[in-house]
Amino acid sequence: MRLRNQTGVKDFLERLHREGKIPGSLLFYGPPGVGKTSAALDFAKGILCLEGAPWGCGECASCRHVEKFAGDVTSGRWEEISVYEEIGGKNVFVYLMGEHPDLIYVPPSGTGIKIDQIRALKEFSYVRPALSRSKVVLIDDAHKLTKESGNALLKVLEEPPVDTVFILISEGKESLLRTILSRTFQIEFPPLEESIFYELLGREDREIYELSGGSLTLARDLLEKKEVLGLVDSFLSLKPDKVYEVALKLDKMDDRERELFLNVLEERVKVTYLKKGINYDRFEMIVRRISELRNGLGRGLRFSLGLLTLYSLWR
Ligand SMILES: [Zn+2]
Repeated sequence: MRLRNQTGVKDFLERLHREGKIPGSLLFYGPPGVGKTSAALDFAKGILCLEGAPWGCGECASCRHVEKFAGDVTSGRWEEISVYEEIGGKNVFVYLMGEHPDLIYVPPSGTGIKIDQIRALKEFSYVRPALSRSKVVLIDDAHKLTKESGNALLKVLEEPPVDTVFILISEGKESLLRTILSRTFQIEFPPLEESIFYELLGREDREIYELSGGSLTLARDLLEKKEVLGLVDSFLSLKPDKVYEVALKLDKMDDRERELFLNVLEERVKVTYLKKGINYDRFEMIVRRISELRNGLGRGLRFSLGLLTLYSLWR
């Protein structure tokens, strides 16, 4: 299901709710920073609302709990709402849960969504709701499900508990198991329109809009770390000494900065491909390599080596 813009998404979700046709599992996918998580939390508020209002009445006990929880989740105040379970003598983080007994939010734990987290959410989903008529399980960054945890989740989705709605949130569909995709009702979140983007960002900046591909998260990262833009330019000069210098600098940065570098680089490559018509095979190879580098982040590989290999493909 592709929708034209965020308003289209909201209208559509509202219709599902009003017609009583909310699927047991949904997938919200689209670029980062376009409002998928907030939309999922809002939609959950409606599902759980004791008055049955599609986006919540905002007044019942359920809505109040969800609003407080959503605020904590999105602002990163996770300490008090983190739930741990003792597994094999260790205290393991499983999910976030606030005052609402029927709502949990499952983010990746470290680099991925772990099998223990899926076991915990499964247990949660087979218990009867305590306050609302249903329960909601939000799984964020579902593209970070491991093969093992993806398969475990699939089993839950195949025998879904009647009163639980699963909402998976993902940056893309490619890295999800096909079997999971076929079990979920998919809703694509398109990039933000330019005017809305500027309004939310609080400034008009064409370059930032294009580089971020309409993603607010990426745009804010870019504004905060403008030096990364300079690194991409140096790299694209394709002069060996400059490329080497960039590679060394990136080795000293953190994964978030490296990811930002790769995102901007990818965007620039796409623009060059469209404008100057570089050979498609080469373009495809470069983009694939960038994506491999991105997948390798967080695995302790030496970033500079990967980047220099990319450079050697490019020259
Ligand atoms: Zn309510």
